[in-house]
Amino acid sequence: MKKNNNPNTICPCCMEEHEIISVRKKENTLFKGRSVSYEAYYTYCKIADEYYANEQQITANDLAIKNAFRKTENLLTTDEIASIRHKYIITQSDLCTLLGWGGKTITRYEGHQVQDRAHDRILKKLDQDPEWFISLLKESKESFNDETFQKYLQNATAILDSFSSKSAERKAYARGLADGRAERKKLEKRIQTLEAELKKAQSKIAML
Ligand SMILES: [Zn+2]
Repeated sequence: MKKNNNPNTICPCCMEEHEIISVRKKENTLFKGRSVSYEAYYTYCKIADEYYANEQQITANDLAIKNAFRKTENLLTTDEIASIRHKYIITQSDLCTLLGWGGKTITRYEGHQVQDRAHDRILKKLDQDPEWFISLLKESKESFNDETFQKYLQNATAILDSFSSKSAERKAYARGLADGRAERKKLEKRIQTLEAELKKAQSKIAML
């Protein structure tokens, strides 16, 4: 349990003016039939000796529960969804247009609504597949103005290029490893031969 002390304010619990203490507590709860553990935020009133959550903390705690659930279910967290969108530098509503989803879907998924698994898969695929992003973008070209379309296209093309140069690097690295392994095998064989020769020589010496 951690404490952050804030300067004196009116405590909404006892209505007295005193130091407001924010605390974080590990909590477990059931969400959609799953037991999830998360870090909850509370305010502590030392006069009433009570913990309570203000509106902000209730919202934060609710999101923490949803994200803990997302993690246990191997679904993207709100931050991960947002970072996929930031990678493609696309707005929430434009990403919905691109995917043919309702205009507020991404906004909800980056917030308190847990995405369904089918939509989660689509977002993960989009993260890994800039080529697919580009083809979806081209299919929905009519829905964007030219400047926006070009901006999204250029950015996704840059991502695609970096993906392919990375995969070229990976291939070169794998080739290097294979070469290294072959070289090592040769050396091991050579050592075996030398060891055999050494043994022979030693036995000859022993007979002398
Ligand atoms: Zn109080």
